[in-house]
Amino acid sequence: MNSFFIEFRDPLFSIIILLGMIFVISFFSYWWGRYKAKDNYRYLDRFLEQFHTLPSEEELKELIRSGELSQKSWLLLADAYTKNGDYEKAIDIYSELLLLDQNGENVRDIMFLLGKTYFKAGFLGRSRDVFLEILKKNPRTPQALHYLLLVYEYMRDYQAALEVLEPLEVLNEDVSKEQLYLKVLALLHAENLDDELKTNEIIFLYREYKQLERMIFEYLFRTDPNRAWQELDFEKCENIADILWQLEKKDVRLDIISRSSFLQELYTAKGYVKEAKSSDIFELDLLIHLPKEVGATLSFEYICTNCKVVFPFGFNRCSSCHSIDTAALEYGVVRDYRQEMHEASDSFL
Ligand SMILES: [Zn+2]
Repeated sequence: MNSFFIEFRDPLFSIIILLGMIFVISFFSYWWGRYKAKDNYRYLDRFLEQFHTLPSEEELKELIRSGELSQKSWLLLADAYTKNGDYEKAIDIYSELLLLDQNGENVRDIMFLLGKTYFKAGFLGRSRDVFLEILKKNPRTPQALHYLLLVYEYMRDYQAALEVLEPLEVLNEDVSKEQLYLKVLALLHAENLDDELKTNEIIFLYREYKQLERMIFEYLFRTDPNRAWQELDFEKCENIADILWQLEKKDVRLDIISRSSFLQELYTAKGYVKEAKSSDIFELDLLIHLPKEVGATLSFEYICTNCKVVFPFGFNRCSSCHSIDTAALEYGVVRDYRQEMHEASDSFL
């Protein structure tokens, strides 16, 4: 027993105890620091998570009903959702705002925004119903009439779309181009009409109005190239150079192109004829002078002359601003991959 007390009093034992205590305290302080840091991260994650997840439909309704935000703030938020392509959330907001304030002064505007968002989201039936409801109470609303016309056009109900033009005409709007466009669309999609009759009707409309060359000649060159060449106005050729460029050599009327310097330049650049020596259009001039072995061809982009949005494909109605016949051609010169693929497939034979 005494020997134990002697050892306990030994300075070496005290040092060991001291070192042991330092080790235990350091370990716990390190562990506590790690635990706190982890806890902080978890808190931060939970805090940030609420910004990443969108509120559910029920949460949105509760927030709107609570009245903490003004109607204008909700409209701005719905607009931001629409611009981000989250139409569902924008529709939830507009619908709830309308439920809360059924007789408010902004009902017509909110209904219009709801109809527009339904249209963008592809809910055409609901969009039509909203615009019809607006027009029932406010028949002189041209914006709603324009959208209703678009909805009917997308639903391929061209007769209903043509009927929408009547009230627009009463409101002194120039609807002649819309009318022609819808009539041609109706003919193009008419299932029970003989092809020759369809072509005759379309040519009849073109002779009368001399508009919508892209839409009309795209169809005519595809179905009856000879009649298309007969009806083609040389002044309008540059607007549809892409359609003319795509024609096969057998469908090109050499007797007709010899009467137009632009067509001679276009088809010399294509390699069908050798009539032109140069062109004022840089891209055509380049292709006329380049040897055919280089394997270059013409490319096209389409800029809407109304809203200036550029599209890689031709259009009759701009999907951005909804204007008709506003596609202007932009030329480019690119490598001809089709020719390369054609040559490669020939080499396998
Ligand atoms: Zn446009």
